Amino acid sequence: MINEKMKNYGNNRSVIRDLFEFGNQRKAEIGAENVFDFSLGNPNVAAPADVNATIIDLLNTKDDIYLHGYTSAQGDANCREAIVNDLNKRFSTSFRKENLYMTCGAAASLKIILSALYTEGDEVVVFTPYFPEYRVFIETTGAKCVESACDPDTLQIDFDILSEAVNEKTKAVIVNSPNNPSGVVYTEENIAKLGKLLEERSAEYGHAIYLITDEPYRELVYDGITVPFVTKYYRDTVVCYSFSKSLALPGERIGYILVPDEVTDAKDVYAAVCGAGRALGYVCAPSLMQHVLERCTGQVSDLDEYKEKRDLIYNALTNMGFTCIHPDGAFYLFVKSPIADAKEFSNKAKEFNLLIVPADSFGTPGFVRIAYCVATDMIRRSLPAFEKLAECYAEELKK
Ligand code: PLP
Repeated sequence: MINEKMKNYGNNRSVIRDLFEFGNQRKAEIGAENVFDFSLGNPNVAAPADVNATIIDLLNTKDDIYLHGYTSAQGDANCREAIVNDLNKRFSTSFRKENLYMTCGAAASLKIILSALYTEGDEVVVFTPYFPEYRVFIETTGAKCVESACDPDTLQIDFDILSEAVNEKTKAVIVNSPNNPSGVVYTEENIAKLGKLLEERSAEYGHAIYLITDEPYRELVYDGITVPFVTKYYRDTVVCYSFSKSLALPGERIGYILVPDEVTDAKDVYAAVCGAGRALGYVCAPSLMQHVLERCTGQVSDLDEYKEKRDLIYNALTNMGFTCIHPDGAFYLFVKSPIADAKEFSNKAKEFNLLIVPADSFGTPGFVRIAYCVATDMIRRSLPAFEKLAECYAEELKK
């Protein structure tokens, strides 16, 4: 018979996908230019020019087996070498290609590492707000997803709450910075404190608590902010990375898992990653993209373009009276709903053809997420609609 759990995941589409589909329907009815779709994290900023030039050059100079054939299960050796060389140069680390496993993006990286390490009875802590798919990835291993709320004003880690959330059953904590949906970058002080807490608890409970860092937005930061490279602050850190956002290639499905040598039982963890990749049918990430990375790793899409969008929407909405978390990174604006029910607020926005995501499924009711990785012109044209939305809540916005 049908697996009920999977049927439910299929039937209960994410709220983001629902809004996106609603947007497509609305665009067919009233014209795409009249719908302001801020639902999906699909980068509108182009991939660096080198990426397309490299693809063309590869197509012109390499044979089909090289371009489209299987690579080794854990990824092409030259690609992995290029990635670790780039990391070592930027972060003064000494990773080897044997630490790296290529995946079909961060979603696959997360699913593989969680399946590799966890099972029934284990607990994995996530900070709210969090990427809603974490819950799906965690619960399908049999483990429990435990939410640890961040400070409501800054959305930085609240250590009193975290301290309660971590217990003997905790086997991992997932950290995502720069954060989707808030755009917050966890401070170095916070990351160091997190490392210390996990070190103490691992020693107390007699088992490693792995810190899984989900970093698709690592390079997307503004105003000179730096993102602490987490392996430096806590030994048992496993990195899940994706080129979906830094190179604007989300549809190409390419990323990696990095298991540093320092990690407890590193060899076994890496073997379990290979095993989980195999069991899930994820071996051999897209080969053309691996060859592109061999030449283009380390590049980033135009950050000035993202910053222009960020400043435009953040300044406009705060001037209208909305309370927004200042986003230091990623490409999301997190806005306090003027009424308690963010779903109702999002529905009201739909009346002005504004598609903004209620953040209940991110574990933070009372907020909405605006993905501003869209055409700058669309942001400009959407502002009168936001003005009208603000007028509906004039009283609440004065408070
Ligand atoms: N993690 C976070 C925080 C994300 O925002 C996303 C995608 O938006 C993913 C993981 C999945 O990324 P990918 O497209 O590389 O699978």
